[in-house]
Amino acid sequence: MGIEDLRARQRQTIMRSQLRQLGLDYLRSIEMKPENIERIRAAHPEHFHPSVGDVPDGWTDVLMSFLVEFRDLGEGMMSPGDVRFERTNSGLKAYVWPNSEMQWSPEKAQAVVGLQRHLYMSSRDLCEWCGKGDAVPVPLGERVTFFLCEEHKASAEAKLAAQIAAFDERVRFRDEMSVLFRPMSCMSIQVSDHNLDIMRKALRDIKKIVEERELIGKVYVTKVMESEGQLFISARCGQADPATQFEIADIVKHAEWESDQAQLAANKEDRDHDA
Ligand SMILES: [Zn+2]
Repeated sequence: MGIEDLRARQRQTIMRSQLRQLGLDYLRSIEMKPENIERIRAAHPEHFHPSVGDVPDGWTDVLMSFLVEFRDLGEGMMSPGDVRFERTNSGLKAYVWPNSEMQWSPEKAQAVVGLQRHLYMSSRDLCEWCGKGDAVPVPLGERVTFFLCEEHKASAEAKLAAQIAAFDERVRFRDEMSVLFRPMSCMSIQVSDHNLDIMRKALRDIKKIVEERELIGKVYVTKVMESEGQLFISARCGQADPATQFEIADIVKHAEWESDQAQLAANKEDRDHDA
């Protein structure tokens, strides 16, 4: 398998995992807002179930109408039963356990099925994010399909495109730096955002020295890694002259120091944020 095939396959794998990640991020971002959960709990204390909290925010209103009509099927003070909700890839489902103490005429039983069906079908038209109509199914990864309006569909696609562009950009940079890695090395140089520029500058500086002093094949970067946000770079340059060895060690030390500072600043920002 040629290197081009390998890249294409890596790209496919990354795209799949990005899609999956984006799907998970979306599931978190569309969660029902606490104030809406409370609104439902206050309006329907007898039919409230924690599964309401797993329903996307955009489906709040359709769930509320379901509960109003469901409650109306009760007899006097008697509740028609218990209900649970589940967000599925094909729409919002309500599972009903009918109250066995109630008289269930065929019409009433039919009405419950009608309500379930109406909830399911109408949720499919509503954006899970904002509740706007005219939503369409948008698959993000193999496992999750969302119902999204034009606007939120476009923003999901833009996010995905940005992630793919960032991947392509990393591949380009890796190619640009290839003289620094042993031939056929598959070493990954993936780092977090706060270390990206620091790592790139260090590698570019080392590459400049290697090319200017004709040290190709004598200096190799053997490791680029992160541990708890701290960047570490290892270089083998035993075959280079002592002055070069010092300079490269200096570049590495400086990059690691900068990473340490960036990490401290990021932690401080988090703390200020929490305060
Ligand atoms: Zn929307």
